[in-house]
Amino acid sequence: MSYGKLTMRLWSCVDEVVQKEVGAVGPVHIVLAHEDDQGFSLDEEALERLLLREEVVDLDVVVVSVAGAFRKGKSFLLDFLLRYMYNQSSSSWMGDAEEPLTGFTWRGGCERETTGIQAWGQLFLVDRPDGSKVAVMLMDTQGAFDSQSTVRDCATLFALSTMVSSIQVYNLSQNVQEDDLQHLQLFTEYGRLAMEQTNEKPFQRLMFLVRDWSYPYEHPYGLEGGHSFLEKRLQVTQQQHEELQTVRRHIHSCFSSISCFLLPHPGLRVATNPAFDGRLTDIDEDFKRELFCLVPTLLAPENLVVKEIGGAKLTCRDLLHYFKAYMKIYQGEELPHPKSMLQATAEANNLAAVAGARALYTKSMEQLCGGDTPYMAPLELSRRHHALRLEAVRHFRSVKKMGGEELCRRYQEQLEAELDLSHASYSKLNDGKNIFRAVRTPATLLGLVFL
Ligand code: GDP
Ligand code: MG
Repeated sequence: MSYGKLTMRLWSCVDEVVQKEVGAVGPVHIVLAHEDDQGFSLDEEALERLLLREEVVDLDVVVVSVAGAFRKGKSFLLDFLLRYMYNQSSSSWMGDAEEPLTGFTWRGGCERETTGIQAWGQLFLVDRPDGSKVAVMLMDTQGAFDSQSTVRDCATLFALSTMVSSIQVYNLSQNVQEDDLQHLQLFTEYGRLAMEQTNEKPFQRLMFLVRDWSYPYEHPYGLEGGHSFLEKRLQVTQQQHEELQTVRRHIHSCFSSISCFLLPHPGLRVATNPAFDGRLTDIDEDFKRELFCLVPTLLAPENLVVKEIGGAKLTCRDLLHYFKAYMKIYQGEELPHPKSMLQATAEANNLAAVAGARALYTKSMEQLCGGDTPYMAPLELSRRHHALRLEAVRHFRSVKKMGGEELCRRYQEQLEAELDLSHASYSKLNDGKNIFRAVRTPATLLGLVFL
């Protein structure tokens, strides 16, 4: 089954423009790390193409990220996540026995690949059991978590992808090591600060995914074994370094749920055969059985978690603002300070609320007095503008935000000024229609006289 065919099915309900892109779907680099240690950059256009698509822009967004070091089977896993998403309703979503895996590129060997964040080139529309529709974004967060890396690089990238995702899968090899936990340090401080502002936990789901687990007799494979293993691993003992004790104490206050899944080794053909192309026949039964449980745990419609920040759900449009705001603080030389992360969150909170309110206003005004509509009495236009402006401001105020009243006021004033400007240009447009009529009328009359 090729992705071309599958994609066709996915977008079959969508307009022609989208259909033309069928077959061209693949991973898209949205965040790139620069080789010469010059920080990260965001491909805003690529991200906008994904998130501002008409059929997703106003939908609540679910962001699933798989993060970790190179060559630890992330892409391999993500390809199975894709199979699940493309075959939602089928129990045989894992595919045919002899079908090679495709999707996020993966290959054997140990050379480095680009550090950064890749997203799958389209979002998946999913109906949830409660009747709501959400858009699901899949991300591959590849950090230089290896020996060549600097701490800053991976902590930064991991922080960024955690801040924008609702489900972070932390892909680890064999065990959860102390330095794996150390990468969580930045969040715990951020979490503490964020919790002072709202009572909501700042992040949502975190799953430690341990690959090649080789002690199933101590903790069995899967979620339950993972649970008992993690409980033990997160225990605070006096022998630990103080920082790690702190991480352990605070980690639960940062994420609303933390789980762990222990995956068996996929077998030697997967790990060592250079000719392995991902087909199921070459993968160990144990691994396939556990994978069959793991993927729906993350992606089944009832398990999808909508991205929230400060207790407010995010649409695709909102997510774009957060990406942009966070990228700004991550472009600096230094490891971002939790305080600046918090500041960026608060500003993006407000910016996203402004954008949402503006979109609400513009949509109604377009219907009322956009280019295709007839001239209307200026007084009536003014009256409708005031009512819609009030509604937009009310919407803005109703969105839960961080950063306090002063910041919120500043953005509200910005919103009001923008809406007044919009009103001015809609009025002009409307006047233009009137002049047109005024000019046409005598001309028409003249025409009638000559007839
Ligand atoms: P990524 O760099 O993290 O995206 O890793 P890839 O998905 O490209 O996989 C790197 C190599 O590891 C490939 O040869 C895969 O066949 C292999 N691989 C995939 N999953 C696993 C696993 O769970 N355990 C082991 N030992 N190897 C795996
Ligand atoms: Mg990869």
